[in-house]
Amino acid sequence: MSQSGDRLKAVYDEVVGRNPGEEEFHQAVREVLENLGPVVEKHAAFADTALIRRLCEPERQIIFRVPWVDDDGRPQLNRGFRVEFNSALGPYKGGLRFHPSVYLGIVKFLGFEQIFKNSLTGLPIGGAKGGSDFDPKGRSDAEVMRFCQSFMTELYRHLGEHTDVPAGDTGVGRREIGYLFGQYKRITNRYELGVLTGKGLTWGGSQVRTEATGYGLVFFVEEMLRAAGDSLDGAKVVVSGSGNVAVYAIEKVHQLGGSVVACSDSGGFVVDEDGIDLDLLREIKEQRRGRVSDYADARGGKVRYVEGESIWSVPCDVALPCATQNELDEAGAEQLAGHGCRVVAEGANMPTTPGAIRVLRDAGISFAPGKAANAGGVATSALEMQQNAARDVWTFEQTEQRLGEIMRAVHDRCLETAEEYGSPGDYVAGANIAGFLRVAEAMLALGHV
Ligand code: GLU
Repeated sequence: MSQSGDRLKAVYDEVVGRNPGEEEFHQAVREVLENLGPVVEKHAAFADTALIRRLCEPERQIIFRVPWVDDDGRPQLNRGFRVEFNSALGPYKGGLRFHPSVYLGIVKFLGFEQIFKNSLTGLPIGGAKGGSDFDPKGRSDAEVMRFCQSFMTELYRHLGEHTDVPAGDTGVGRREIGYLFGQYKRITNRYELGVLTGKGLTWGGSQVRTEATGYGLVFFVEEMLRAAGDSLDGAKVVVSGSGNVAVYAIEKVHQLGGSVVACSDSGGFVVDEDGIDLDLLREIKEQRRGRVSDYADARGGKVRYVEGESIWSVPCDVALPCATQNELDEAGAEQLAGHGCRVVAEGANMPTTPGAIRVLRDAGISFAPGKAANAGGVATSALEMQQNAARDVWTFEQTEQRLGEIMRAVHDRCLETAEEYGSPGDYVAGANIAGFLRVAEAMLALGHV
């Protein structure tokens, strides 16, 4: 191993030692450090790895108790988190995740990824993530509201439009952002629009924010295909998941002439060779908070519903993992390679395991990591902050056009940086290096703080 490789390995070992048991965080750090060898060799300022060590240590980690009372009057208890990872480029920015799997290691992995993703957008936003092990599934609106109010009663003191600006992630959508914003407004007595993003359109939200992660992902894929002399027109696409990212990825693929033939949830997947009927899926997911099995029931004999198997067995040209971390493993990647898939782009955060990435690379499949491909969500959050700061409201068209420009710029930045640092066509290296360079330059300028 080269000297720079040894030094980066020492940083990684230190991260593992200082953050025991946080496997997802270790994985996220490792994926970045593995690409920084050529950067450390080229730039003397990073040679001693002091800045890289500092980058791996969150600026602030907040863990708090969230007590609330359920509809039966029983006391309930959850844990809340906010990891304010890096503010060299702007106020801490990143979503909140409500899911029973949430613990410090998940929040740190997401916060760490967010630094590089936000940096790649070219916009002035730092990196953070938060959430709770609260499970919104099966909870009434009133319970979700009381939980959100309790959560914000602690978190508000750490937030502010110039300090830390949360948004949604898994389990946190417009409903939750509404309750959180209402409580923040009540406690602080400030109508501070820029303190949260993903707001509703009548109370400071931006057009396209709901659609942004899914739309942005597909804009990115369009660029990947274009770079390979290909297009989405007539392409067969498989999208895992059926949440906010998946739904709007499906919509944009259909608008651009491709066909999404399968989607999933934690229970199973559905194959609809006519293309997923998005109106039906949205009605089931958004109005009824139902499952994809309900979609299969509603479509009758026309579709296949499969439980307990991998969605990656469905043949496709383009695969978009949009569900959750580590959902696409080596076996899934081998299935994709086996039936001639050409492009994989991550809509979720870190859905592809390191082993699966190797399989895709060996098979010559073009692969884009989430920190580049799903940056459209947070980029549009930054556009929401811009509108809030200017007390302005943009049209749908104007906002979508900006999103398209940003995604094309992220794509080009990845490819140009990969080329410059000796890994042509490698979106993973390009995203990690380009994301790192911008934040690292700012950290150097701001001194050892
Ligand atoms: N949770 C989203 C992400 O993973 C969006 C965060 C935001 O808009 O702040 O990037």
